[in-house]
Amino acid sequence: MTSPPAAATAAWPRTPTFEDRAAYRDAIPRSFWIDRRSDPPSYPPLEGSVEADLCIVGGGFTGLWAALHAKRRQPDRRVVLVEADRIGSGASGRNGGFVSASITHGIANGLSRFPDEIETLQRLGHDNFSGLRSDVEQLGIDCDLEVNGDLLVAVEPHQVGWLAEDAELLAAHGHDVELFDRDAVRAEVDSPTYLGGLVNRTGEGLVDPARLADGLGAAAADLGVAVHERSPLDSLAADGPAMRLAGGGGEVRAERVLLATNAFPPLRRALRRWILPVYDYVLVTEPLSREQLAAIGWRNRQGIGDTGNQFHYYRLTDDNRILWGGYEAVYRFGGRVDPRHDVDEATFAALSQHFFATFPQLRGIR
Ligand SMILES: Cc1cc2nc3c(=O)[nH]c(=O)nc-3n(C[C@H](O)[C@H](O)[C@H](O)COP(=O)(O)OP(=O)(O)OC[C@H]3O[C@@H](n4cnc5c(N)ncnc54)[C@H](O)[C@@H]3O)c2cc1C
Repeated sequence: MTSPPAAATAAWPRTPTFEDRAAYRDAIPRSFWIDRRSDPPSYPPLEGSVEADLCIVGGGFTGLWAALHAKRRQPDRRVVLVEADRIGSGASGRNGGFVSASITHGIANGLSRFPDEIETLQRLGHDNFSGLRSDVEQLGIDCDLEVNGDLLVAVEPHQVGWLAEDAELLAAHGHDVELFDRDAVRAEVDSPTYLGGLVNRTGEGLVDPARLADGLGAAAADLGVAVHERSPLDSLAADGPAMRLAGGGGEVRAERVLLATNAFPPLRRALRRWILPVYDYVLVTEPLSREQLAAIGWRNRQGIGDTGNQFHYYRLTDDNRILWGGYEAVYRFGGRVDPRHDVDEATFAALSQHFFATFPQLRGIR
C-alpha cells in the first residue's frame, strides 16, 4: 500500500522530478543507525521457565531505561527484559536521534494543550534531559551525544511570527535563545527556503540512537538484568497473584510486568484501541564533501526542524551525512506494523524533493 503524494504548501513544490527520485534509487532500505553497527552486543533467547520480580517486554528506550532504574533502585530485584527482535530494533534504533528536553513537542504546543501543567512538564522534561546526559556519561556510553542546541526555521511568512512567540516563551522559561532574521539564519545554515530562525541552546542535542540503545542494554545486563533477544512473547495471563508471559521456547512468571512495546500490537487486547501506529520516514545522504558542507554552512551542527504542521527534521551525522525526515505521518489500514512498510516510495519521493528544494546547492548528492 502506498500513501498519497505530499500535499503542496507554499514552501514545497508539488511533483517530484526524475532527479528527485534518482537521488535515492540505490539507497539501502534499512535503518542507517542499525545498519552501520559493526558488532552489537547480543543476548540469548528466552528458554525454559524463569521466575522474576519484574518482567519488561520490549528492548527499546522505554524498556531499557526502566530496567536500569528498576535495578538501580533495588539491586536484588530480579528483572527480566524480553525483546522480540534485537535490542533497539524498533523505533529506538531507527529515529532522527534528536534529544529534546521538551516532552510536549515544543513549549507552545505544551502550553496550548496542558496550560495548568506546563511548569511540571517543563521540569520533568529538563530532569529527563539531564538524566540522559548523566547516564551516558556515567555509564560511558559511546553514542556521539552532541549537546549543541537546535535551530527552528520558518519557511512560510506566517511562521516567522510563531518563532518570535516561541522565543519569548522559551526565554521566559529560562532557555538561552536567539532569534534570526532571514540573512542571519542563512548565515547559520544556507537555504533559500529560510525566512527566519530560532536557535535554542538549552536542552537540545543529538545522539546515535542505536548505539545509545546498545549501551543501555549492556549497562542493564552489567547490573544483572537478564536480557533476552529474538524472543517474541505472545501471551500474558494472570497466574495467581503473578502474571505468566510466554512465547517461543520460554516463559516468565513475574509479580510485575511492564509492557514497553510502543506501537507494536500489545499483549493485552484491551489496549489495542489506544494504540495508533503511524509510520514516519527518513532518508540519509552519502557523506558530504568539504565543499558541499561549505556550500550550506551548518558549522554549529545543531539539529534543524521547520515549523509547519507537517514538519521536516534534519541533522548531520558524525560522518557528515544529512539525515532528513518527517513531513508525512502514514497510518496503514488496521494499524498494521510490518517490515513491508519500511519502504514507502511516495514519501521517499516527497522527502527527496523537499530536501533539494531546501538545499539546491547539493543537487547531485545521493
Ligand atoms: C522515523 C522516526 C524518527 C523519530 N525521531 C525521533 C527523534 O529524533 N527524537 C525522539 O525523541 N524521538 C523520535 N522518534 C520517536 C522515538 O524513536 C520513540 O518514541 C522511541 O524510540 C520509543 O521507544 P520505545 O522503547 O517505547 O519503543 P521501541 O523502540 O519501538 O521498542 C519497542 C520494542 O518492543 C518490542 N516488542 C514489541 N512487541 C513485543 C513482544 N510481543 N514481545 C517482545 N518484544 C516486543 C519491539 O521489537 C521493540 O524493540 C522517532 C520515531 C521514528 C519512527
